[in-house]
Amino acid sequence: MLTRFMTLETIEAWLRETNPERLELLWQTADKVRKQTVGDEVYFRGLIELSNYCSRNCLYCGLRGERKNLERYRMTVGEIKACVLEAKVLGYGTVVLQSGEDPGLDPEVMADLIRWIKREAGLAITLSLGERSEAVFRLWKQAGADRYLLRIETTDDAFMQVIHPGEPHGSRKANIDRLFALGYEVGSGVMVGIPGQTYGILAKDLLWFRERDFDMIGIGPHLAHPDTPLAKVNTNQPDQVPNTEVVTHKAVALTRILCPEANLPATTALATVNREDGREMALKRGANVVMPNVTPTKYRKLYEIYPSKACIDETADMCKNCLGGRILSLDRKVGKGPGARQRNKY
Ligand code: SF4
Repeated sequence: MLTRFMTLETIEAWLRETNPERLELLWQTADKVRKQTVGDEVYFRGLIELSNYCSRNCLYCGLRGERKNLERYRMTVGEIKACVLEAKVLGYGTVVLQSGEDPGLDPEVMADLIRWIKREAGLAITLSLGERSEAVFRLWKQAGADRYLLRIETTDDAFMQVIHPGEPHGSRKANIDRLFALGYEVGSGVMVGIPGQTYGILAKDLLWFRERDFDMIGIGPHLAHPDTPLAKVNTNQPDQVPNTEVVTHKAVALTRILCPEANLPATTALATVNREDGREMALKRGANVVMPNVTPTKYRKLYEIYPSKACIDETADMCKNCLGGRILSLDRKVGKGPGARQRNKY
C-alpha cells in the first residue's frame, strides 16, 4: 500500500517497480499528497556557493580535497552580501549559503554575515557548510540562521565508511541530532545510484527520513565526476541501484508520501540529466522547491561537484524568469516568503 506508514519491504518493492501503470499510481499519489500538504506553491531558495575548498574526500564529489586540478575560490563577504541583495530583489524568501567543508570559513565572520542578512535583507537563511562543532552550530543559530542542510548520502554504516573515507564513525547522524536539538529546521538527502548502493540500502534511507521527520530532503541522481574514485568503479553489480531519472523520481515520490510535510527540491542534478523538463517532472512527482543559483557566474563552473551541471551560465535574472515560466506552465504558483515547513496539516 502507498501510505505514509508503508513498510521497508514495500518501499523497496516500489523502488524496483517497472510496470508503467503501477508507476503512474505512484506519481499520482505523490502529487496528490503534495497538493494536500504543501499546496501548489513552489518556493525559490537563492543558492550562493560561497567556497569550493573542502578538507574532506567523499569518493563521489568533485570538490574533494585530494582533487588537485580544480581552481579553488572563496567569495569575499562583500561578494556574498551582493548576492544576498540580488536574491532579495528577485523576490526570493530564502538564501542558501553552501560550501565544501572549508576550514578557512571563520565561524565568527559567518555569524556576522548571518546577522547582517537578517538585519538588512530579512531573508530566511539555510546553511549548508558541512560538519561543524556543536559550539559553531549554536553560534550560527543564535546569530539568526533558520535551517541547516547536512546530507547523509547513506544511513548504512558500512557503506558510509566506504564512500566517506576518514570520516569519524557516526558523526553525520550525531551532528544531525545536534542540529535538531538546537532548533534548526533540518535537511538531509541522498544521491540515487552511487556505486555500491543497493535497493535495500536506499529503501532504508527513505524510511530513516520518515523516522527522523526531516524538514527538507534533497534527492538527485549520482552523476560521476571523472576526477573522482567512484567514476572508475564498475556499476554492473547485482542489486546496484541505477542512477537514472526514473529511479530518482521513484525515490522523490516515495519520500513525499513518507514525509508529507517536508520541503523537497527539484534538484539541479535532475535538471542536468534531463535539461528539457527535468525539474518539471520532479515537481509533478512530489517536489515543491527550486534552488536557483545566485552565485556569480565566474564561480559557478568551479563549484564542480559533478560535470556539465545545468544552469551555470545563466544570470540570476534569467534563472528566475525561466523557472517562473516552468512553474506557471504546470499550473502551480510561485511561493511568496520564506516557505518554512508547516506542521500538522496532514
Ligand atoms: S560532498 Fe561535501 S564534504 Fe564531501 S568532498 Fe564534497 S564538498 Fe567536501
